[in-house]
Amino acid sequence: MRVLVISDIHANLAAFEAVLEDAKGDWDYVWCLGDVVGYGPDPNESCELLKSLPHLCIAGNHDWAALARLDIRTFNVDARRAVDWTQKTLSPENIEYLSALPTTFVLGNYTLAHGSPREPVWEYILDPLIAALNFPHFETDYCFVGHTHTPVMYRLLNEDGDTDAVSPIYGEPVPLNGHRLVINPGSVGQPRDSNPDSAYGILDVESAVFEPRRVPYPIHKTQDKMRGHDMPERLIKRLEHGW
Ligand code: ZN
Repeated sequence: MRVLVISDIHANLAAFEAVLEDAKGDWDYVWCLGDVVGYGPDPNESCELLKSLPHLCIAGNHDWAALARLDIRTFNVDARRAVDWTQKTLSPENIEYLSALPTTFVLGNYTLAHGSPREPVWEYILDPLIAALNFPHFETDYCFVGHTHTPVMYRLLNEDGDTDAVSPIYGEPVPLNGHRLVINPGSVGQPRDSNPDSAYGILDVESAVFEPRRVPYPIHKTQDKMRGHDMPERLIKRLEHGW
């Protein structure tokens, strides 16, 4: 089975559509690592497109924020405005869909979590040290996470817990064998690694080969909609810079 691995769509339909177009024919199933909504102008459309695909999705912090399930005082002002708008805009059906998302999932040799296996909804795995602390918290060889919006692969190098970070080479399939790994495919709808192109990956589950990919999308389409909804300018601008 080949899996389209995506994360952090963040209600950016143009980005989500570009990924699906780019990945057409290359996958049988979708694993979505959370944050389907929040920040972007298309929360309902993004939920509906995802629901139309054969998929499994886990919950992200922004999905929970949209459900008013967590205290958003830790969010910055712009993120809070986007959360308020998302809460008002989501349909009852999509609220119900997001409410039912699990926080982690284990499939064969793969664990899925939005933030980290240790703290699935919240923790950011930002460097090899944090990744190292997370290896004891999952039992499979591989764990996929999102949340940081930065594509990267952390490798456990030895029993002492030494861990390094490997940057992806896009379009190049990587055999995962040999190390336990925490893999982040990056963000579909709000990349933050100074590259505005949507990020995703294709995983061959049985042979454990993962191919990280990037694809440009019509950013202005999403920005125009955000301006139409009077969303914060900083959130609109960041899309074209990838931060
Ligand atoms: Zn996110």
